Amino acid sequence: MAPYFIFILYSYKATKFINKTKVEYLPHCSSCVFRYICGGGCRANAFATCGRIDGMDIYNCEIVKLTFPAFIFSRNLELTSTLWEK
Ligand code: SF4
Repeated sequence: MAPYFIFILYSYKATKFINKTKVEYLPHCSSCVFRYICGGGCRANAFATCGRIDGMDIYNCEIVKLTFPAFIFSRNLELTSTLWEK
């Protein structure tokens, strides 16, 4: 009985931990337009820079917000130009 109880306790704690780190529940990322592409960044970086596992991965965020719009824009131009060629 005891090992089963310990397993349930650890599963519960693991689930709570994993849920806390999902991008939908991260305070800074829940409403970001890139959240499902970026995923909220690295939890280790967030912990190292903010001291919280559900904190913000500042370096990843800066890079994503600077590069993704440019990438999407350039990809969109490529797709548009291929459509024009047809
Ligand atoms: S870009 Fe920044 S705010 Fe948006 S999901 Fe990524 S880390 Fe979070």
